Amino acid sequence: MRKLFWGRCLIVLSALAGAALPAQAQSFAQGDFDPAIPTLTATAGHAPGSRITSPDQAYAYLEALAAAAPDRAKLVQYATSWEGRPLYYLVLSAPANIARLDAIKADMADIAAGRAGNGTALPVTWLAYGVHGNEISSTDAALMTAYHLLAAKDDARAAKIMAQTILVIDPMQNPDGRARFVNNFLASTGIVADADRQAAEHDEPWPSGRVNHYMFDLNRDWFTLSQPETRGKVAAIRQWNPVVVVDLHEMGGDETYFFSPAAQPFSPNLTPAQIRAYELIGRYNAAAFDARGEPYFTREVYDLFYPGYGDTWNAHQGAIGSTYEQGSSRGLVWKRRDGTELTYADTVANHFTASLATAAAVADNPQKFLADFAAYRAANAGGAAGKGSYVIDLGKRRWNAERLGRRLAAQGITVLRREDATSICGKSYPAGYLAVPQAQPAARLIRSLLDRDTPLPPDFLAEQERRRSVDLPHELYDVTAWSVGPMAGVEVALCNAAVSGDVMAADTPIAAKAEGSGSFAVAVPWTDSGQARLVTLALREGIEGRVTDRAFTAGGREFPRGTVVFPAGANTPEKMARLMALAGEVGAQTVALDSGWVESGPNLGSERFVRLTVPRVAVAWDDGVSPLSAGSLRYVLEQRIGLPVTPIRTARLGRADLGEYDVVLVPEGDPSAVLGEGGQRNLRSFVQRGGVLVAIGDSLETFSSGDNPLLAVKREAALGRDPAAAEDKDKGALAEAIAIASDAEYREAIKDQAALPDTLPGALLNVAGEPDHFLSAGYDSGAVVLATGTQIFTPLGRHKGVNVMRFAAPGNLIASGYVWEENRRQLAYKPYLMAQPQGRGLVIGFAHDPSTRAYLEGLDLLIANAVLVAPSRVR
Ligand SMILES: [Zn+2]
Repeated sequence: MRKLFWGRCLIVLSALAGAALPAQAQSFAQGDFDPAIPTLTATAGHAPGSRITSPDQAYAYLEALAAAAPDRAKLVQYATSWEGRPLYYLVLSAPANIARLDAIKADMADIAAGRAGNGTALPVTWLAYGVHGNEISSTDAALMTAYHLLAAKDDARAAKIMAQTILVIDPMQNPDGRARFVNNFLASTGIVADADRQAAEHDEPWPSGRVNHYMFDLNRDWFTLSQPETRGKVAAIRQWNPVVVVDLHEMGGDETYFFSPAAQPFSPNLTPAQIRAYELIGRYNAAAFDARGEPYFTREVYDLFYPGYGDTWNAHQGAIGSTYEQGSSRGLVWKRRDGTELTYADTVANHFTASLATAAAVADNPQKFLADFAAYRAANAGGAAGKGSYVIDLGKRRWNAERLGRRLAAQGITVLRREDATSICGKSYPAGYLAVPQAQPAARLIRSLLDRDTPLPPDFLAEQERRRSVDLPHELYDVTAWSVGPMAGVEVALCNAAVSGDVMAADTPIAAKAEGSGSFAVAVPWTDSGQARLVTLALREGIEGRVTDRAFTAGGREFPRGTVVFPAGANTPEKMARLMALAGEVGAQTVALDSGWVESGPNLGSERFVRLTVPRVAVAWDDGVSPLSAGSLRYVLEQRIGLPVTPIRTARLGRADLGEYDVVLVPEGDPSAVLGEGGQRNLRSFVQRGGVLVAIGDSLETFSSGDNPLLAVKREAALGRDPAAAEDKDKGALAEAIAIASDAEYREAIKDQAALPDTLPGALLNVAGEPDHFLSAGYDSGAVVLATGTQIFTPLGRHKGVNVMRFAAPGNLIASGYVWEENRRQLAYKPYLMAQPQGRGLVIGFAHDPSTRAYLEGLDLLIANAVLVAPSRVR
């Protein structure tokens, strides 16, 4: 399941009750099996599908399988999770193939590079399970698939898969999430597996096992590569160059089974040959499900548009990338709404069936899949998807541009780097550039990531507008924009001239840039994420620094507002040396100053400079706030900026001693009920005593409603609606009579006058900054933000506070993606970032989450302004 938010994908499991499960559990083991291959029962103590195999049991079984068949199975660790659990893949093939794996890999690499192979290659089928840790049946199906291929003695289909293909099984893409799920299941189950969907064993506490440790949806992270689980996986896939990749999930327990062909919209970066291959694999799955009498559906719900999914990302590398979904038993047994019961064993059996059917489709057509893949890569290398180059300016947000280049390189994309000043396509690049040529094998992934826009199919859009015109919900599944240049805050231009440079490696450290000479002070210009990280790490080591909210010129050089100056007079020589060492580790830019004299702007001794200290930061955690938002905020602050945060459970905020903190962050969500009056009161007094409260997205409503709101804004109804009329209409026993004379009048009469704006699935929008406020430092030329959802707020009145960043004018609003026309008109000029003084403190509101999926690196300075800098400004 892969909802934008955590809507439909909650699943759970039950296990003390394992003994009660029936005979379907045995259906994996029909026929004659090699007794030398250990069974799950022998290794883990339970039959397949009778219990939810824990991560530790799965590790033990994978090791047992690999040890029992070293000539046919190889177990490889490719990553380690945040919580220290290993991630493995298991390579399965016939002994003759395993013996020459290196040669097969090398030939596949040649083919993937767009060159002719030497005939050694075999098609690689990659089956990945459990990316959402609470979608439990997939991992057990992975173990059964491996067992079957190694142990089945009289299955010609299994033998053909082993002979004709290399099968790679990635059984547990999110072990931390699975462990969380299994622990909750075991902790809440009783003496029988409970089919009651209300039972605690089906109802996970916050956060569910869907997400990893930092509460990321790993099926959105494929091009962002923010999480170690994804980084290791992408590196592994690049070594193998699979021709088919399937990501096996679970959906709601009332559903049946979904396999490809996928739903619309398809990315325009898919090819007709790929679309035909989905059909072929789909027919193999259909035949296998028909034979077992199992229902399924195709071409609905699950699309192929967003490249952060496992299916679409791999499709943009030339594989046939798919999502399969099994209705989840959310435990060992689940009572469906239609009265029937779905058992865990059923769900494992279906994923097992689809795994083998998919592998068989490749084994029956090895030359077709190899030839299609080779043709795809070679055509792209020859310029089938374009012959220009994307040029990324290294002069703007240098550290983020360097990071973006490395992220692209980590996905197998050739990135060229040029350090000297140069001009190309009529634009000068005084600090050099990164260039990404379009004519290379991964060209369609490159286009998807670097094009300013990936258009939705016109017929799909027309249908969505039709649905909206009759008040039906639209069918967009995820964001409509992900252009990585604007998201990183860097400038990307498409250029048709020849580019040159050195090929960039994904793991080269970013080089520090130390400029100027002098021993009076070291300035850290406030220009990119690396600068914010250096400042934070330095402050944490007790190095004294001061931040300015005015630009200044010193030594003939301009420093933007937000620049942090570390004076030698306030630090020991050892501390100043340590500052430079940290700059080297981070790859940050520093400028040594020889005097406190400035040619313009404030001097270091001016009150425009304030002493910066390490803020103590709390984040609201648990019920009432979104795990995705809480997790990505914590991730950006801790892992990118370097600032530790203390999570405090939302329900505790009413009695917490908030005097211990300088900043309290409230992630997206609806925390009012969990906070209660006590929580609201405690937060109000925290702000009035000098604290900084930062509220995000929907949570703003909690602090902007009531008689005396902390933030004097209101949420808006949809444009053209009349919420006051809606209230009037509900009063009185009788309604005023109206004559309805046309279809248009009828539609008007049934219109919901209090409706919220239609949901934005996610678009990149331009915002402009208020140049005199410290919170907009680093954004003199505006920013690109992600807007999702229905929240549009009225601007803050001038007497109440400052609309620090506001959406651009309607004609300049959309940076990338699709926005409903009435939303475009309504969003223009509305606040994105607001600040309102309260007592001695400050309330900061973000209308949309700047940390979503950690993929808007260009907003890191905005987050740092609100969390790192604001307490020193407020003090
Ligand atoms: Zn899923």
